[in-house]
Amino acid sequence: MCTAIALHQCVPGVPLLLGFNRDQLLTRTSLPPLVKYERLSTLAPTDIRSGGTWLGLNEAGLLVAIVDHFRPRRLGGHSRGQLVSAILGSCHDPQSAAEVLSQEPFRQYAASTFLIANKDLGLIVSWHDVMKVEKVEPGLTVIVESGVNRKRVARCQYHRRNLSHKEYPLSEAVRRMGSALSEHDSCKLLSSTTCCHSKRSGTLCSQIVALGSTLESNKFFYADGPPCRTSYEEYEIPFLRQETGGILSS
Ligand SMILES: [Zn+2]
Repeated sequence: MCTAIALHQCVPGVPLLLGFNRDQLLTRTSLPPLVKYERLSTLAPTDIRSGGTWLGLNEAGLLVAIVDHFRPRRLGGHSRGQLVSAILGSCHDPQSAAEVLSQEPFRQYAASTFLIANKDLGLIVSWHDVMKVEKVEPGLTVIVESGVNRKRVARCQYHRRNLSHKEYPLSEAVRRMGSALSEHDSCKLLSSTTCCHSKRSGTLCSQIVALGSTLESNKFFYADGPPCRTSYEEYEIPFLRQETGGILSS
């Protein structure tokens, strides 16, 4: 499944706050966030099977996340995780990342929804029956396996009821996002809640990323397990860079 929850222009000083649960087969292992030094340095966890990632943040302040779409089933053949890594390693902004995606033979990948954002712009690129690009609207956006803000998906409605757009400072907004990502109440089936569990699959890890109004205020939190029983740790982002191009810290 996977669930991405975005709060756009809801947190003072934070244009976008993203929460993301990675749901996978329990046997699908990954590495916690590491820095990769490509043309653009990236902080991202690694899917060991593909060598790519499902979510990352690069030194230009570009955030890319991908949610699997359950339909239509396509055999794929191309690795989406490697594509996300390639975008993070080379693109400075959402427009250029969307341009890269528009040039890919998307039907040769499994169907997906990408969220691509920096502090100025958020885009949702859907690779379903057709390719579609939309802006992330101010307020709450929930991306699940059947698309964006789905009225019939219980956890979409749950977050619309419970994650109000009231402005909270970042620390409180992060706490509330972590609580939302840990929820088991939206559905009677534990396999369909935001933090999901079943015999063979479930939420393997969770991320919260804050895109601040400056690059040095970006924050990256990671829970190396289901968030209902795993604490988030803040990861240092060692490659912060000013828009002018100078490295601030390492
Ligand atoms: Zn759980």
